[in-house]
Amino acid sequence: MARVALVTGGMGGLGEAICIKMAALGYQVVTTYSPGNTKAQDWLASMESQGYKFKAYPCDVSDYDSAVACINKIAEEIGPVDVLVNNAGITRDMTFKKMDKVNWDAVMKTNLDSVFNMTKPVCDGMLERGWGRIINISSVNGQKGAFGQTNYSAAKAGMHGFTKALALEVARKGVTVNTISPGYIGTKMVMAIPSEVLESKIIPQIPMGRLGKPEEVAGLVAYLASDEAAFLTGANIAINGGQHMH
Ligand code: NDP
Repeated sequence: MARVALVTGGMGGLGEAICIKMAALGYQVVTTYSPGNTKAQDWLASMESQGYKFKAYPCDVSDYDSAVACINKIAEEIGPVDVLVNNAGITRDMTFKKMDKVNWDAVMKTNLDSVFNMTKPVCDGMLERGWGRIINISSVNGQKGAFGQTNYSAAKAGMHGFTKALALEVARKGVTVNTISPGYIGTKMVMAIPSEVLESKIIPQIPMGRLGKPEEVAGLVAYLASDEAAFLTGANIAINGGQHMH
C-alpha cells in the first residue's frame, strides 16, 4: 500500500510542486484547501488532466476542530497519514507600529497554531505504527527576521521550536520532525512582485543571483519523507541560494 502524504495548502505555489513530486514518487497524495476556496475543483480537474489524481479536503488549518474533522475523514476514506507536510501559510505584512491584534492573530493561527492542529490528530497513529514524517515549511524570515513581519517571523521561528521539542519526544519511535526554511522561491506570489523590485532589491540579496524553484523545495521535502532520511530529525534546513547562513 502506498504511503499517504498530506500536504496542507497543496493548491498554492509551493504546495502544488510538493504534491506533484510526492505523487511522482508513488505516494497517495492528499491535500487541503480553505473551506471558502471556490477554485479547488478547477485545480483538481486541471491536475487530473495532467495525470495527477489528488484527493482534496476542505480544512481551515487555523481551527483545531476543522483539522481533526479533516484528518478523521482522510483516515476513514483513504487511510492514516504517514507524511504530514505543514505547508499552508499566510502573510499580513505591516510595521509593528501598524500591527493590530487581528493581523497578529491571523498569522499566528494560520502559520503556527496550524502545526499543532494538524500534527496532534496524526502523531499518535504514527507512533503506534512506528513510522512517520512531519515536515514543517517555515521561512528564511523566521531565521533572520524581516522588516514588516513581526507576526510572520515569530510564527515561522515558533514552528522550529515545535520541531525540535517534538523531534525529541518521538525520536525512538521511527517518527522524524524537521523544518524547511525556504528563501525567495519563484512562486506566483513572488513573481507578482514588479520585476524592477525583484531585480533591484530582492535578487541582489541572493548570492546565487536567482530565485529558488518550487521543485527544489519539493525535492527536499521528498528526501526528508524518504526512508533514507531516517537519521535526520530536529533539523532546520535552509534552502535560500545562500541568502542567509547560520
Ligand atoms: P501560497 O499563498 O501560494 O499558498 C498558501 C496555501 O495555504 C494556499 O494553498 C492556501 O489555501 C493555504 N491556506 C492559507 N490559509 C489557510 C487556512 N486557514 N486553512 C487552510 N489552508 C490555508 O503560498 P506559497 O506556496 O508561496 O507558500 C507555501 C508555504 O511556504 C507558506 O507556509 C509560506 O509561508 C512558505 N514560504 C514561501 C516562500 C515563497 O517564496 N513562496 C518562502 C518561504 C516560505 P487556499 O488558497 O485554499 O486558501
